[in-house]
Amino acid sequence: MANTTDPTLAPTGPTYGWCDWHEGPSGTAVLISVVEQCSGPGITRYACAPCREQRRLVPYGQQP
Ligand SMILES: [Zn+2]
Repeated sequence: MANTTDPTLAPTGPTYGWCDWHEGPSGTAVLISVVEQCSGPGITRYACAPCREQRRLVPYGQQP
C-alpha cells in the first residue's frame, strides 16, 4: 500500500525544525545551545535564521 501524503495527517514533532525563540515551526532552525541542568537532561534550544539574526545567536558548534 502506498504511503500517501495527506496534509491533514502531517506529522507533528521534532522531526521538523522548531524555533524556541518565536515558538513556532521553522525550516531554518538550528541547534543553538544545550543548557545543562543540575538534575535531569539538558535543554536543547533551536533558533531559526531570522531569530538568530535578531538575537545575534551563534549556532552550537560555532561558539568560541
Ligand atoms: Zn524564530
